[in-house]
Amino acid sequence: MRASLHYGEHVLPYEVRIQPGRVIRKVAIHVEPDGRVLVDAPESASEQDIHQAVGARVRWIFGHVAAAKERLRHVLPREYVSGESLHYLGRRYRLKVSLVPNAPTAVRLRGGHIEVVVPQDDVGLVQAGLQGWYRQRSRVVFQERVTAMAHSLAWLKGVPPIRLLNMRSQWGSCSPAGLLTLNPHLVKASRECLDYVVLHELCHLKEHNHSPRFYALLDKHMPGWQRVKLRLDSLADVLLRE
Ligand SMILES: [Zn+2]
Repeated sequence: MRASLHYGEHVLPYEVRIQPGRVIRKVAIHVEPDGRVLVDAPESASEQDIHQAVGARVRWIFGHVAAAKERLRHVLPREYVSGESLHYLGRRYRLKVSLVPNAPTAVRLRGGHIEVVVPQDDVGLVQAGLQGWYRQRSRVVFQERVTAMAHSLAWLKGVPPIRLLNMRSQWGSCSPAGLLTLNPHLVKASRECLDYVVLHELCHLKEHNHSPRFYALLDKHMPGWQRVKLRLDSLADVLLRE
């Protein structure tokens, strides 16, 4: 459920998630990294209760929303210099740029760092090296996950072919003929998020639209997928920008 609250001349939109399975007695308010306001509420809470709980903390919320937006503003644009944060399979790493004259551009994962070796001080080389590395890793990881999942889904006769495509606002899609298109940026998300996207697309090979039968299939193979989707949605801005 979406709602909003007026505060002075500002409008604060928020999204309410009713949590029937969880034992929470109070309304809990979260500000996501992208500045979205999520409100978890027990089933017993009325709309008015929720509105009041949000109203009581409106100054706190505005402070955090402003801070999140400020942080995001600073994320843009990436400079490809040592110390910047990068994501891979749901973990955060620090970028380390190493200058080695005459060496070929290379990328490796070492401890908490993703190290990019470049022969000269050139941001373009670092950027290209990282993009190539993510693409190569995504090919390996996606193939592994799609293969593993395809074997457990009865309606698939084999492992569907995968195509990589950089997209601005979509993680994946699939064609009626069974070609799976996945966004290489997805390899930055956790395995759980990655599996959710793959499963969503593989379910479309049985149910070609978002019908109740489609969601029943998704529920059966990944109970609680909604929570995973919310987490992925909240990270989308950051992961797609890197
Ligand atoms: Zn879909």
